[in-house]
Amino acid sequence: MARVVERGVIGVDLGGTKLLAGAVDADLGIHHRTNRLIYGLDQNGLVQMVADAVEEIRTAVGDGIEAVGFGIPCTFDSRTGMAVQAANAPLADIRFHEVMAERFGLPVVVDNDGNCAVLAEARMGAAKGCSDVLLLTIGTGIGGGLLLGGEVYRGWIGGGAEMGHMTVDMNGPPCQSDCPNYGCLETVCSGTTLVRLASLMVAKRPDTALGLALEEGRELTGPLITELAQEGDPVASDAITLIGERLGVGLVSLVNIFNPQMVVIGGGVSAAGELLLEPARAIVRERALAPARDVVRIEAAAFGAEAGMVGAALAAREGGGVARAGFPSSEPVG
Ligand SMILES: [Zn+2]
Repeated sequence: MARVVERGVIGVDLGGTKLLAGAVDADLGIHHRTNRLIYGLDQNGLVQMVADAVEEIRTAVGDGIEAVGFGIPCTFDSRTGMAVQAANAPLADIRFHEVMAERFGLPVVVDNDGNCAVLAEARMGAAKGCSDVLLLTIGTGIGGGLLLGGEVYRGWIGGGAEMGHMTVDMNGPPCQSDCPNYGCLETVCSGTTLVRLASLMVAKRPDTALGLALEEGRELTGPLITELAQEGDPVASDAITLIGERLGVGLVSLVNIFNPQMVVIGGGVSAAGELLLEPARAIVRERALAPARDVVRIEAAAFGAEAGMVGAALAAREGGGVARAGFPSSEPVG
């Protein structure tokens, strides 16, 4: 078979509802993207669909593929390589990396999707060239990834960097899905919270562009709030400003602890750009400790929906990941 891609790696972002996969070549070009809806599949169905997607790409790009990486939104235990809290994907109790390595006859790595995203941003995105990077993806919840001294940092057994679950309000609302905590960062500034805030605020100010849009039957969503905020609607702008300030409060702690060179904000809510980032920066400048606060840069992610896929491919190329199988002489690393 002709090689379309030399020294390629395949990255697979296995989200809660969909799979996005593509091949990344040695020059970091992306080839043959494919996606699948995975909602409602059982474990066998999921494994089969993932295998189909990877085989589709291998067929399309030729036999130059050297490894496959998976980014998955769950916590891992690096001692076993198994997914521990995978609320949205049926991956519990399976050595997924070993199953896939055997199936493809290729080296396979798996990692948390936030770890993949920070790797993508640090190697070829907004934080290119930076060694100490903190990434938050703000969507339905808040995912996190840490690059410290040039390496992805996962904690002792791979369960770390869950910065969305940092407590910012000890008497705050209960957190989502499997998190038993109250007042986590993601309970005060996720996309879900943005919609809830805007809903409360527009009820008091219905004579605004947002109020009128809802009256016309449009659904209250993050993208609608962002769109109207960018057009100057006061309610939508206020809601995003408040989310940005709350994000800033969380970043104060993270900047004080990690002294990152760069903070990268991704996920759906980051589409608000400066409307979100500037309030966050203002809080960090005001409240964080010197000298970290004076040098940290807080910027939007360069990769949108493809961060997990690209990062998973890079993790495969670097032989990283929280767990790996099928490499010539590799034991899973902690
Ligand atoms: Zn939580």
